[in-house]
Amino acid sequence: MSCPFGAMLIVTRDVSGTSSSVAKERANLRCFLPEGHEGPHRDERADIRWEDQGHRVRLLLCHEKDPVQEYFP
Ligand SMILES: [Zn+2]
Repeated sequence: MSCPFGAMLIVTRDVSGTSSSVAKERANLRCFLPEGHEGPHRDERADIRWEDQGHRVRLLLCHEKDPVQEYFP
């Protein structure tokens, strides 16, 4: 069995001339590690790691200028 945890990654970008930002890109991530593994979850295709913080599917927000490779909040 593989790990049942996943994440939704949303990349935002600023709207020029305003202080708001909009979603530029969304990606569904899923963990490819074995169920019950130790350490953060990892999506090998996107090469992104994240902590679930108790969420089966965690929402990950990042800005397009920020690196998205690792999430260790
Ligand atoms: Zn996992």
